[in-house]
Amino acid sequence: MDSTEFREFGKAAVDFIADYFDTIRDRDVLPSIKPGYLRPLVQSEVPQQGEKWQDILKDMDRVILPGITHWHSPNFHAYYPTANSYPAIVGEMMSAGLGVVGFNWIASPACTELEVVMMDWLGKLLELPKEFLNESEGPGGGVIQGSASEATLIGLLAAKERVVRRLMAGNSNMTESEIKGKLVAYSSDQSNSSVEKAGLIGSMIMRLLPSDDKGRLTGKILTEAIEKDKKSGLIPCYVIATLGTTPTCAFDDLQELGTICNEGDIWMHVDAAYAGAAFTCPEYRYLMKGVEMAESFNFNPHKWLLVNFDCSALWVKNAKYLVEAFNVERIYLQHKHTGVAPDYLHWQIPLGRKFRSLKIWFTMRTYGVEGIQKHIRGHIELAKYFESLVKQDERFEVTTSSLGLVCFRLHGDNNLTQLLHDKLNNNKKIFTVPCKFRNKFVIRFVITSRLTEHSDIDFAWKEITSLTEQIVSSPCL
Ligand code: PLP
Repeated sequence: MDSTEFREFGKAAVDFIADYFDTIRDRDVLPSIKPGYLRPLVQSEVPQQGEKWQDILKDMDRVILPGITHWHSPNFHAYYPTANSYPAIVGEMMSAGLGVVGFNWIASPACTELEVVMMDWLGKLLELPKEFLNESEGPGGGVIQGSASEATLIGLLAAKERVVRRLMAGNSNMTESEIKGKLVAYSSDQSNSSVEKAGLIGSMIMRLLPSDDKGRLTGKILTEAIEKDKKSGLIPCYVIATLGTTPTCAFDDLQELGTICNEGDIWMHVDAAYAGAAFTCPEYRYLMKGVEMAESFNFNPHKWLLVNFDCSALWVKNAKYLVEAFNVERIYLQHKHTGVAPDYLHWQIPLGRKFRSLKIWFTMRTYGVEGIQKHIRGHIELAKYFESLVKQDERFEVTTSSLGLVCFRLHGDNNLTQLLHDKLNNNKKIFTVPCKFRNKFVIRFVITSRLTEHSDIDFAWKEITSLTEQIVSSPCL
């Protein structure tokens, strides 16, 4: 393919994407195919001769779109949002076009330097403590990771290295592997599955402590667990506090947990994967009170901040701990400015890294602070509107509601709500996922798409209530 054909293909692809968004409401949010649908639609091997781009693009309609779950449909109310916006798509395109791999400064200075500045832009947008910013005098800074899961794991590995070094320097009579075998991490039973996974990958005991009736990890429960472990010779090392839990968007109290961590020399990592974006609005910042006591803070612009996947923002108070945990020097990785700008390969798990800051830059400049705040506040307002509709219908109860997430259920037995949920997803008009909270089966209704409007909420509510009619009028129940 030459550049003339690339121009044609690229422009046609942009038209395809724009048309997709313009007509997204016409599609069922869930696909209607069965597992294995795709194989018969494509060649069984690489074609002998290259094909025309027109034929390849045509197959997006024939092969791919029938198997797409439309994450950006206004009728997608499952999980948490995954961000998407036109400037971010163009940022992705530029990143692919330049095709650099910016593992250290010399590998592409602009890639490192824009990331340094963008992490400060985001940090200031959320009003994080200055110690986290790259521009501050101290050893803190921010870096883009691929996911919140990686950020939690990175915090765990850095915390582990920190404890090992501290104890070894203090003439501990334990060997390094004995110390590592005694380390313990703590989080709540409401934390994301990636937290448990970090414990598995990082070979650290991960205690998922019981949360309170609001889904929060309390200081009392954490203290009890720490004391118990210490008595049996274990070493508390890492606490993952969640701001915006996955099931119900509950907020751990950072002031309470942070005080315990700081007193016990325990690394507190804050996982604000979804809810962190709300801190762009001053009225929600009270939810992160105590963040100054954290060693690391993470949120996903790729969830709610209009920056396409993948883009997870991680800040640490002292980058030395990351570098000590991940620094594997090779002569071919050195350059004459080593040590002046961050070489981000030492702040992450892989060696290679994309030019991800471009899509942040494009998105932040296009929307501005006002546009971002309007997006976040708009979603929260839509969630409140949905909540008011549920509350007006006495067949339902709202179990929790926080930011853009409303959890609700039908009064009565869990299987009524389960049935409603099954019907909703079988009908494919709206997509939700359930969760179990305090033994209640609830449907999570999240505002996810930047396209969602009041009329889409009315549409969803009509769908929910008409399927409810079928359930309550069924003679079998
Ligand atoms: N943490 C929380 C609180 C989440 O809600 C999620 C995903 O929804 C994650 C972590 C995982 O995020 P990622 O897919 O970026 O690893």
